[in-house]
Amino acid sequence: MKSEFLLRFCFILGVNVVLSIVHGSVWGKKTLKDETVWPIMILRPLGTAQKQDCHSVNNPILHDQGVKRMQSPENGTGKGKSFIPGKGNRMKIQKFGKWLSACLSALVLMAASMSGLPPVIAQAEGTNAAKKPVVLVVMDGVGESSDELGNMVMKASTPTLDTLKANDPYRTLRAHGTAVGMPTDEDMGNSEVGHNALGCGQIYAQGARLVNESIENGRIYTSDTWKDLISGVKDARGTLHFIGLLSDGNVHSHISHLLAMLKEAKAEGVERVRVHILLDGRDVPATSALEYVDQLEETLTALNDDSFDGRIASGGGRMVVTMDRYQANWEMVREGWDLHVHGQGRQFASAREAIETFRKETPDIIDQNLPGFVIAEDGKPVGAMADGDSVILFNFRGDRALELSMAFDGDASFDKFDRGQVPKVRYAGMLEYDRDEHIPKNYLVNPPQFSHTLTELLVENGVNEYACSETQKFGHVTYFWNGNRSEKFSEKLETWEEVPSDVRPYEEAPWMKAAEITDRVIAAIVSGRYGFIRCNLANGDMVGHTGNLEATEIAVETVDLCLGRILKACDENGCILVVTADHGNCEKMLEVNKKGEITARTAHSVNPVPFIIHDKDARHELDTESAYGLANVAPTVAQLLGIKGYDNWEKSMLK
Ligand SMILES: [Zn+2]
Repeated sequence: MKSEFLLRFCFILGVNVVLSIVHGSVWGKKTLKDETVWPIMILRPLGTAQKQDCHSVNNPILHDQGVKRMQSPENGTGKGKSFIPGKGNRMKIQKFGKWLSACLSALVLMAASMSGLPPVIAQAEGTNAAKKPVVLVVMDGVGESSDELGNMVMKASTPTLDTLKANDPYRTLRAHGTAVGMPTDEDMGNSEVGHNALGCGQIYAQGARLVNESIENGRIYTSDTWKDLISGVKDARGTLHFIGLLSDGNVHSHISHLLAMLKEAKAEGVERVRVHILLDGRDVPATSALEYVDQLEETLTALNDDSFDGRIASGGGRMVVTMDRYQANWEMVREGWDLHVHGQGRQFASAREAIETFRKETPDIIDQNLPGFVIAEDGKPVGAMADGDSVILFNFRGDRALELSMAFDGDASFDKFDRGQVPKVRYAGMLEYDRDEHIPKNYLVNPPQFSHTLTELLVENGVNEYACSETQKFGHVTYFWNGNRSEKFSEKLETWEEVPSDVRPYEEAPWMKAAEITDRVIAAIVSGRYGFIRCNLANGDMVGHTGNLEATEIAVETVDLCLGRILKACDENGCILVVTADHGNCEKMLEVNKKGEITARTAHSVNPVPFIIHDKDARHELDTESAYGLANVAPTVAQLLGIKGYDNWEKSMLK
């Protein structure tokens, strides 16, 4: 630090002196012709500037030599020493004064250059220099409902949220269905589409809707990928395999897509199909697996004849096999790979027999936790993969589809687990799950194009951004927030921090990493470097999914406690606090089933989410009449920052 200080001082002093020499303001050898050129005005020693106040040639001590010369006919040549009084002492005093002022001005310039260059640059480029920073907290999975049944938000002690709602502009937002690009308003929201809408200010057709459209209009079957997979299987007289989540949850997949593709495959002359089913119980009722197995078996039975042979080949619960995400547990993927690809695992005669056996063995088990199984005949798996086969992963959502795709697409350097003998198959995903990394290499439906996101706007306006969450939701405040982009728009203006999540069941540690995230957000606020700070507190969603009511109550209270700390930091550091959520979950932990019984609910809800703006110094009134959703958040944040949003954005909610 000291040496940097010294270096900068010497450099600026040097520049100062050189400029002074060039313009004769120290040595007086040249005429200072243009007094208004700003670098000279700033860099010139302060002593020379005094000529502005001193027009009298009769005050030699204060007078500038250059000015003196211009006003003095005796020195019209501009050559040689021009100072008329010519007294040695005066000369020395003058030069000393000028050197002193040169040093002082160099010091001032250096201090300016060293104190927080980034914000200076950001504000100079932006239009929000006068606006307060905005801090956005996404309380993941914390919805709003007046229904008391299983409402852990209502049950928990939430003094901060209560105070904010009572005293600050507050309303609710739609966070499900068409408001976040899902096909219908029956569809729940989820963290991915929620953060897409929050960060993009627009409503995009999301995975399910894209795939629906593509299957309905048949475009999916005209894609090069589909044609290649089908012709490959026919040429090799091989098997077409489908892997995916078997439910109508419409979060990762929809069974209707699978059934439609099975029919089309038969119509196009495919002879043999095997289906590898992942059991849900998370986006649908906790023990509903057999409903979907029956639907699939009925369709296969109807299709099966002399020319077509379709069967279920393997499966397992989505939290046990195949559908790991964020590379948290490759062992899950290895287990799924062995079941689906090699047909290695516990054998059963049918999927129904497997599920019923597991339920007998572990009476409280829910579908997402069912162990892996393989369907076999005479001890031989019915659906192990072979060279020439084609494989379709029919999940449309990316996060839990990436790892299996990497295993299928990976070359010999793949080292996440031992894949054994890798069959030469053609593999495709339903969508491109990661557009930046191009995973998978082949996919059936083109992904949504996301542009004009809030981050793009802030980067264009030179606003420094900070984003933080723990591993489980880090992708949501970065990748999904930025419109499904892995790369930053600007390395300089975007700062991302990830707090590693605990590797243990969330009901055992419902506080998760909220305190650590809060520490970092407060540090970001106090630093004064950022114009926009966002974070995601994951507790309401992740603990809510466990179905454990006590743990979820603690999760909500944790979020409230952390929110209180962030609120205090905002008040003390002149920031505006915006609080919202990406979808509901922990406010609906119980439900009444068709038989009138109260049952556990681990899925998200279709409830709205809160939206609050807290500013210690001003009230930013919200339009509480219109039906707004998550896509109205980015335009509102932009307006708070004094930046005009993109024309294709939804409206700001500020009055
Ligand atoms: Zn979420």
